[in-house]
Amino acid sequence: MQKVILKKGRERSLLRRHPWVFSGAVSGTVPESAAPGETVEVCADDGSTLGYGSVSPSSQIRVRMLSFDPGTVPDAALVRARVFASVGRRSDFFANAYTDAVRLVNAESDALPGVVADFYAGWAVCQFTSAGAEFWKDAVADALMSAAPGCLGVAERADADVRAKEGLPKGGFRVLRGAEPPELVEISEGPCKFLVDVRKGHKTGFYLDQRDARATVGPLANGGDVLNCFSYTGGFGLFARACGAASVTQVDVSADALALAKRNEELQRLCGTKVEYVEADVFKFLRLCRDAGRAFDMIVLDPPKFAETKAQVMKAARGYKDINLLAMKLLRPGGTLATFSCSGAMTPELFDKVLAEAAEDARRDLQVVAKTRQGADHPVLLSFPEGAYLKGVVMRAM
Ligand code: SAH
Repeated sequence: MQKVILKKGRERSLLRRHPWVFSGAVSGTVPESAAPGETVEVCADDGSTLGYGSVSPSSQIRVRMLSFDPGTVPDAALVRARVFASVGRRSDFFANAYTDAVRLVNAESDALPGVVADFYAGWAVCQFTSAGAEFWKDAVADALMSAAPGCLGVAERADADVRAKEGLPKGGFRVLRGAEPPELVEISEGPCKFLVDVRKGHKTGFYLDQRDARATVGPLANGGDVLNCFSYTGGFGLFARACGAASVTQVDVSADALALAKRNEELQRLCGTKVEYVEADVFKFLRLCRDAGRAFDMIVLDPPKFAETKAQVMKAARGYKDINLLAMKLLRPGGTLATFSCSGAMTPELFDKVLAEAAEDARRDLQVVAKTRQGADHPVLLSFPEGAYLKGVVMRAM
């Protein structure tokens, strides 16, 4: 097995069980013959073994650790056991009728770097976003098929941009094990049903990470007019509607997302509520609403990642401030603003600061009534704080 020797002092993060070895921490070069995803032994400068990980020759994150134990060399059995353990930690979800859609494997935080597996009513959909994850793909797919209760098939989405950074080819949707899922998979979440496009939808098809936020925010809509910005397939809007919203306006720039949002509306079999669909850029739409003097009782802002890296944080902060300031102005007294950031580089503290500045410029007093985060099936390993990316602030306008 090839060895990767770290520079003096660079073993510290590994001793804290952080799973990444950056290229700058490696002394000399990674042996040329190391194939992408191959297991390497990681050693401190004094030659002592720190553990084993999967090498990514073309990535800044050169090694992702699979074992911090000098006596445990990763193999397919270890990967299989990790998948079973990860699924086992979700037994509450399988025992609970609230939803039939859950994240089964959350990458680094479930000790399987680069591996994401979401489960939609019997269908597992994975993303393999590191060379090591790609290397162990077969073991992961086999294990999911047996570990996930009632698993009908395991598929892969290979279209994530991050694959390029790892030197992995981009691909589309592919069945790895079991049967071919239907064109749209129907899932249930609390009072709602949603259709999930596992082939062409975002990520693996649905924003499971906002489940808790939808449950927190929905009931606050009771009887009010809701503006759901960056609606995707309608999640927050339909949830609010199921909780008794009087009207819902779903805004997204993607016609495909709105088309599925409409089909999702039909699926709820609720009548009486007005749902409007607007294909528009939220930055522009909020200004149109301002100029038209429109007002709402609840506004949801759940934009895509504005900052990919720390360098983009200040630009992202301006974007967050802009939409939040505009939304605050559109709120009726007593109205709710539920605002989110899924940019990991945007810290919760900075997000709070941006919101305070937006309120100041909007000349509105707002009270924070709840804070949300990614759900329990998207856990964050304590030694891997990078795993915490999603934050939400729910406020009431005074
Ligand atoms: N709230 C959703 C997830 C939102 S994902 C849920 O719970 O399911 C972000 C969405 O923002 C995507 O659907 C994307 O199409 C949309 N989007 C990105 N930029 C936009 C813009 N400038 N204006 C409107 N929608 C945008």
